[in-house]
This record gives sequence, structure tokens and C-alpha cells, in this order.
Amino acid sequence: MNETPSFTDDDPRGGLKRREAIGAAMAGGLALSGLSTPAHAASGVRTLASHGQLRAAYDHVIVGAGSAGCVLAHRLGRAGRRVLLIEAGMRSTLPAVAIPPAWPSLQESALDWRYETTPQPGLDGRTITCPRGKAVGGSSIINALAYQRGHAAAYDRWPAGWRHADLLPYFRRAETFSGGANAWRGGSGPLHVLSLADVADRTPVAEAFMAAAQQSGFPTTPDVGGELTTGVGWNQLSIAGHARADAATAYLDSLASGPAEVQVDLLAGVQVLGLEIERGRCLGVRLPEGVVRPEGDVLLCAGAIDSPRLLMLSGIGPADELRALGIASAVNLPDVGRHLEDHLLLAGVAYQARREVPASRYNHADSLLYVPHATPGESPDILVMCLSVPFVRPTVGPLSAPAYVLVPCHLRPRSRGSVRLASSDPRAVAIIDPRYLSEPDDLAVLAKGVEIAREIGAARAFDDWRSKEVYPGPAWTTDAGRHDFIRRATDSFHHPVGTCRIGAVVDERLCVKGIAGLRVVDASVLPGLPASMCNAAVTAVAEKASDLVIAG
Ligand SMILES: Cc1cc2nc3c(=O)[nH]c(=O)nc-3n(C[C@H](O)[C@H](O)[C@H](O)COP(=O)(O)OP(=O)(O)OC[C@H]3O[C@@H](n4cnc5c(N)ncnc54)[C@H](O)[C@@H]3O)c2cc1C
Repeated sequence: MNETPSFTDDDPRGGLKRREAIGAAMAGGLALSGLSTPAHAASGVRTLASHGQLRAAYDHVIVGAGSAGCVLAHRLGRAGRRVLLIEAGMRSTLPAVAIPPAWPSLQESALDWRYETTPQPGLDGRTITCPRGKAVGGSSIINALAYQRGHAAAYDRWPAGWRHADLLPYFRRAETFSGGANAWRGGSGPLHVLSLADVADRTPVAEAFMAAAQQSGFPTTPDVGGELTTGVGWNQLSIAGHARADAATAYLDSLASGPAEVQVDLLAGVQVLGLEIERGRCLGVRLPEGVVRPEGDVLLCAGAIDSPRLLMLSGIGPADELRALGIASAVNLPDVGRHLEDHLLLAGVAYQARREVPASRYNHADSLLYVPHATPGESPDILVMCLSVPFVRPTVGPLSAPAYVLVPCHLRPRSRGSVRLASSDPRAVAIIDPRYLSEPDDLAVLAKGVEIAREIGAARAFDDWRSKEVYPGPAWTTDAGRHDFIRRATDSFHHPVGTCRIGAVVDERLCVKGIAGLRVVDASVLPGLPASMCNAAVTAVAEKASDLVIAG
């Protein structure tokens, strides 16, 4: 840790010194706008306007200021580490980010990388959008705000050290829960979690769903993130006041107040092009204008699509495939980019309403049901959300307001896909192939989810709202109709994980196998999907990772 970090060009002989490199970059028109602007530290994090403002030395470089990267920056900064956080996107100024019900408008905005999958044979050849946050805050900036841990049994299938009992202290440490602290919930963490059990302005359709699910025989739970994580309950969202609590506001802005001065620098709007690997060690990260070398580990937090992409660009991955693209192998890790898992949702079981459906002030899904698994103690396969908006896939057909929709989700899909390099160009988008519905069992679970949603939709508590079931409607009467409907209505829930998973690509301390000085910390290391949305799991994993990094 005593080698001075350096800023050099890509020249393996050592290249230019930092000052010369910046001068050369400016002369070549490569300088960032605002190069002469002084560094800005209003939030406790010093926001750099250019490379010229880099400190002389850093302990860690974090690649990606998303859900995980912001957690690491906060905890390492608090521990006195000198941290450089590099993010391809900028700090968002879009008002819609803060407004919870406006979240759908953020997809395909400037804050979205706008990836998409290859044509999916299981979905009639459709390509599926794969939104990923491109901003300080990452996908937590554009996500649907639901903040749920899911069932303990899903974590208990993970490797030792990462099971539910191992993560529970970190779930608690991360949050300030609106219902107050207890053995399950945290009361003083950076991230505010609002249970809609604690508000009075829930949409009435969500109240009807609560009652209808109970009439259909499902139990209720007072806290879906507490001791009882199955049954029907109120949604829980990362909201502080009435505004989105994303990773940047929760974990970076809170560094402004605290016991000690922190040394966290943020370099936003700069895309990392690869990692400098030499003789089995990661020395630094490659930027358009040169290389930054920390004294300690590089922490890769670029998410489930871009972390494996950056590893492969740097020679870490399936050696034969990389060689075919002209990339020299640093270590043969065939599992990099493999084992891509993603939740599926089905949009949806749709009802024309008899009257106007009041809008949600939250994320449009004020109540939801985790269907208890047939095997006691096992994690649920199926989640059903009640949406107070006319949300169906365009491939399903038209649906006009007033309407509400019940959306079954498959929480434990068997289909596995991959993220691969399209070329050795560091800016080329990865090939994303989740192979949705490639396992027949996934279709069967979604069919069961539709049956459950229809049963709830037909319950008495909805009589006052239901005019008629629009979808699936008559399509549900034959096997062929059912399968056709599922293929047309299925979409991604946007929870890709597993492409650098613990055990295969990184060890239990999240160190990349065969490469010193490099850890991956983000959704890509999750060894399986949690039985819920996955932002809470990513946050807890990053909380635990920060302790591992500090421990050395
Ligand atoms: C539309 C949508 C809705 C969702 N809804 C929910 C929900 O309601 N609840 C839930 O729990 N989860 C939800 N998710 C998923 C959840 O937000 C993600 O799983 C989680 O944020 C992933 O965190 P991460 O740290 O792995 O990656 P990210 O938060 O995506 O962070 C990765 C960061 O790395 C940056 N980056 C990538 N490549 C580079 C590079 N080369 N150089 C520099 N920076 C780079 C990116 O710009 C990004 O900021 C949703 C996701 C989406 C897209």
C-alpha cells in the first residue's frame, strides 16, 4: 500500500506524467467541460470537475456510483479511507427522479443506459428493454423504489457467510424504517424505508386488493420485511418524506454531516474503459485520458451488465472467447458473464374499472402479495402486485383508463442466460441474452401466478371496482391460449444478477479469483435472486463488503 498512485497514459513503458497527460488531453480536445472549475464539496463528497483535481493518492478507486458503489464510498469514507468514486453518468437534476409516481418516465431518459436483450425465443422473438441507471445513484435513481428484503430461505441457499443471518445486521444497519427499529428492522441507517402501513393516503384499489387476497384465503403480514415475509401486505419503498431516497442522496449526501472530515472524491461523467492488469494483479482503472492507480483495491461496482463486461475487456473471463475477440487472457474464469438470472413479471391480469381509479402517490403498487410456498419455510415463487394504472405490455393489446391490473411475478426462475462481449471496443454495449422462459417450468409458475391473480381479481372485495376482466379474458380457456398470452405478456422485472457470482467468479470476500487487488461488489455477485426485488439485497451485500474491505 505504499506505492504512490499514479496517473499515466496507456503506454506500458510508463507514459506521460499526470500534468503532461492533462495538458495533452486538453490539446487533443479531450478535457472535460469545466476543467478550470474548482472542486466542489458542498455534500461532503468533493465533486471533481476534471482529472486535474485528483488527489495525489487514493486508497481505493470505486467504479460505478450506483446502489453498491455509494454504500462503499460512504462506509470507506467514514473509515478515513481516501476514495475516488468514478461514475459514467452525471448527478441527476431531473425533477421526476424525486417524485415517486413519476418513476416510469425515467426509463429511456438521459439517466438510462437503454440496453436491450437479444431477441428472446421464449417471448416470441421479442427483444426486451434492459434499463440501467446511468447517473450518480445508478439504477436506484430510476428504479421503482420498492425496498424489500424477501424471504430468509432464498439467502440461505447462498454460500456460507452470505446467508440471511449473516446479512440481517447489514439490512438493519442500512435503514431507517418508518415503523421503528426492532430485531428485524433498523432505526438509524442512511436509507429511509417507508412502509405504506404507516401512511393514510394509500390508493383505495390497493385496499380492495388487501381485502380480496384475504377473501381468497391468503394471510396478511404487518411488515413484509419483518419476521413474516409472506402473505398480503403494504408495499415498502425507499422514500424520505415524499421524495425518492436513492443511494446517492442516502449514502453520499449524508457524508456532509458526521464526526470526521471524509476524503471521498467523485469523478462523474467519466466512463471507465477497463482495468490495468499486470501479472495477476489489478493496478488501476483505465480512463479515456489515462490510468488511475490506487494504493489498495479497485472496487468494481458497475452492475450486473457492466461489471462482467469490464472484467472481460480486461482479460478476465472465458479465455477462448476473449482470445477470439483479440483480448489477451489475464485469467481464465469461464463463469464471468454466465448464470444471468432475472425475475419475470406478467403485465398483466387487467380489469376495466367501473369508475375512476385514484392515482397512487407512491409507486403505483401500494399493496402486494407474496404467495406462501407450498413447502413450509421455503421462499415464495410468486409475487402478485396490485397496480392502480392501466399497465399492460403493448403486445397484449390496448387497455384504457379507468383500469387496474394485477401483476404476477416469478421470483425463482430457472432460466439462465449470459452477458457477453460484442467486441473488444471498450465502449461497445454487451450482448445480453437472459434466455427468458427457456425452462418450461418458468411458464408453469407464471400460469399459476395468473390463476392466483384472477382468483383475487374475482373476489367480492373488488365487486365495487370491477367492470370486467379484459386480459387474459377468453384467451385463458385453452392451453394454447394460455401459453400464447403468457409469452405476449411476460416482461423483465429488471433485476439482473449473478454474472460474477460468489463462489464462481469472486471468492467469499468478493475478491476476483486469480487476480490480486480487485473486488466486485454489486448485483453481479449475488449467487441467486432474492425472493423479492433486489435493491435491498445489493445494499446489504455492499454494507457487508465495506467491512471486508476495511478489514483488508
Ligand atoms: C427500471 C428499474 C426498476 C427497478 N425497480 C426496482 C425496485 O422497485 N426495487 C428493487 O429492489 N430493485 C429495483 N430495480 C433493481 C435495482 O435498482 C438494482 O438491482 C440495483 O440498483 C443494482 O445496483 P448495482 O449497484 O448493482 O448497479 P447500479 O445501481 O446499476 O450501478 C452501476 C453504476 O455503474 C455505472 N457504470 C457502469 N459502467 C461504468 C463504467 N464503465 N464507468 C463508470 N461507471 C460505470 C452506472 O452508470 C451505474 O451508475 C429496478 C431496476 C430498474 C432498472
